[in-house]
Amino acid sequence: MSRFLSPHAQSITPYKPGEHPKGEGVVKLNTNECPYPPSPKVAAAIAAFDADALRLYPDPAGKEVRAAAAKAAGVCPEQVFVGGGSDEVLAYAFMAFCPQGEEVCFPDVTYDFYSVYSQLFGLKPKRIPVTETFEVKVEDYAAEVGPIFLANPNAPTGIVLSPSDIEALLRQNTDRLLVLDEAYIDFAPGQSCLSLIDTYDNLLIVRTASKSWALAGMRLGFAYGNPELIAALNRIQFSFNPYNLDRVSMAVALAALEDADWRRETVEKMIATRRRASQALEAIGFTVLPSSTNFLFAGHSGLSGQALCDGLRERNILVRYFDAPRTRGYVRISVGTDAEMDRLIQVCKDLAPA
Ligand SMILES: *Cc1c(COP(=O)(O)O)cnc(C)c1O
Repeated sequence: MSRFLSPHAQSITPYKPGEHPKGEGVVKLNTNECPYPPSPKVAAAIAAFDADALRLYPDPAGKEVRAAAAKAAGVCPEQVFVGGGSDEVLAYAFMAFCPQGEEVCFPDVTYDFYSVYSQLFGLKPKRIPVTETFEVKVEDYAAEVGPIFLANPNAPTGIVLSPSDIEALLRQNTDRLLVLDEAYIDFAPGQSCLSLIDTYDNLLIVRTASKSWALAGMRLGFAYGNPELIAALNRIQFSFNPYNLDRVSMAVALAALEDADWRRETVEKMIATRRRASQALEAIGFTVLPSSTNFLFAGHSGLSGQALCDGLRERNILVRYFDAPRTRGYVRISVGTDAEMDRLIQVCKDLAPA
């Protein structure tokens, strides 16, 4: 480590991204990317993009994209924030709403970035245990203070809470902010809490184009909430990276937002594959948590998560293993194409003790 690194920077454990193999023939089911290409409208927008425009800074307010995203979501542009990936949007939320040195709450089994950001921004993380069956119980949050960060559906479990559970959490204390990370919500039809932003000014919803829109390579994230919450995010953006969204990303976002049919068809196809793969794994003795996402959290009583992950890797299939006490028995498997899932299931069958 550099001797110039500040003690604070030294103390942080950075996020570990899934690996990105270069070679051919690897079935990559480790970072929840979409197995299908994005909408053809995206390719058309990139082909039509005029490189001359890159001379000029992009619109720091991202007006056009905000208007289009607002229209697609049925909300006002003042209720929308756009950023370079939802990780960036989440960072702005931490900076805007979490006072240094104070508490922030999230489940003990959830997206690792909440923990990384609480270190980066000098907060006191309160990790609220999920149940034995990995469920988030909203009652458990009443005993703690500080903003709540909740992925819904949760990662890496895939389990979703209903809008009525989320509403109960919002009502517990309307002076307490809930940041609801809906990265996977398109894979959980009917469970979005977007409509609650008109009623609850303590709800900020964060979404991404990386999963259901097949745009992980583009870096596009969104937040939806009361105009005052959105203004708070803008305040941070203009204090950190005013031109956070580049012109190419904007053109791609506009094209993708136009193609609701592509999004619906792709998500439906992936939900069908998820159901089939989940049943096939159960049929060969695996435990699979009920998934409302584009991944499966699965394990086998005769194999550790690490052994499963290593065994799959030896056969050129990458999945994600989380080396923590509560997740040791499981791996997270992204939903790929039907052919990729068939190969995964075949290998799982070979690895599982009979
Ligand atoms: C993938 C993921 C994100 C990050 O998405 P980006 O927009 O690619 O930064 C955020 N939250 C959760 C829960 C995720 O799984």
